[in-house]
Parts: sequence; structure tokens; C-alpha cells
Amino acid sequence: MNRETLILLANAAFMRAGVPTPRMIFLKTPGCNVFVVPTPRKPVLVIAGDLSAKLSTEQIEAVFLHEAAHLACKHFSKRILANLSALLWTASGLVVLFLIAVVLLPPQWVVLVAFFAPIPAAVAQIGLFSRALRAQEFEADRVAVEKLGADPDQLASAIRNLSGDESPSAAAKRWNVTGVSAWLQTHPPTAEREVKLRALVPVKSSQSRAA
Ligand SMILES: [Zn+2]
Repeated sequence: MNRETLILLANAAFMRAGVPTPRMIFLKTPGCNVFVVPTPRKPVLVIAGDLSAKLSTEQIEAVFLHEAAHLACKHFSKRILANLSALLWTASGLVVLFLIAVVLLPPQWVVLVAFFAPIPAAVAQIGLFSRALRAQEFEADRVAVEKLGADPDQLASAIRNLSGDESPSAAAKRWNVTGVSAWLQTHPPTAEREVKLRALVPVKSSQSRAA
């Protein structure tokens, strides 16, 4: 499939979602990926690697509809809010913890709390934000299928083809923090997405085109 056909497919997907087609950038990379990057002027759709070597036309259509769903759901502005709310929660948690330490602990322990508590707080903040990102991935899958007419099986198999090695990193295993590593993932596990996708009832294409 040539670049022009990819551009046509992307245009059709974003038009179906009722959002302007982003600027498109093609990258030559060994691995394959498709994602939208928000920029102050216009979002950019990045197509990395030889997409048509890895995915069928139907899978590419489904992936473009997933990316279009991110824009239709205004996920990028919601990410700023999610980040601020994660920051607010963890900052207030830190303040409460510090106040409790001041009341209950001897001064040398309060110093230790003040010194070390920001580390788990930072992990919690990134984790809360990552959880919001994972929820957005599920929502984009659902909107792509239920509102835009993406084929759930094609989207699930495309995600499977594009997903890299998902096993916890060697470092996470060595430090026995695979749970923390999962908490910090920005994308849900592919197997979980596949199960949820296959449970969705797709809208008929003709319906979505008329909408
Ligand atoms: Zn996505």
C-alpha cells in the first residue's frame, strides 16, 4: 500500500469521527506504530514503520478510527486535567502525611518522612495519571467500535500485531516491583483490550456513515 492510500484511509476515518484530519508524518523505523501527538496548532498523526507490511487494510482502518476516537473524545485536553488532578491528590496526601508525622513522631523521624515521602508520592502521581491514560485507551476502543463503525476483531488483531514485548522488564522482576511496573503502564495489557473489544457490539458501517 502506498502513502497516498494511507492518507486516503486516514482522511476517511477522521472525517467519519467529525474531526479535522491531523497533519501526517511518516517515520522510517524498524518497529511499527500509529499515534496522535497534540501540538499547539494542529494534532499530528505519526505513522512509524511500514504499516502495510504489518497490518491489513481493514486493520489499518480500525487503527485510524481508534486514533480519530481519541480526538473526538478530546482526550488530549482531558490529559492535562488528569495530570493536574493526580498532582493535587498526591500533593494533598503529602501534606496530610507530613502533618500527621509532625503531631505523632519525634523530630528526627519527621525529617525522614519529609525526605523520603516524596518518592512514593511521585510514583503514585505518575500511576494515577497512567490509570487515566489506560481508561482513555479503553474509551477510544469503545467509541471507535460503537460510534465510528470500527470492526472490533480487526482492531483487536491490529493491536496484537503492533504490541511489542509486554512482559515486565528485567529490572522490575529483579526488584520484585512488577505490580508497580503495571501500575505505571500508560497502555492497558493487550489481552485485556482484546477481551473488552470482542465484547463490544459494533455499529453498522452504513449507520456510522450516515451519522
Ligand atoms: Zn490509543
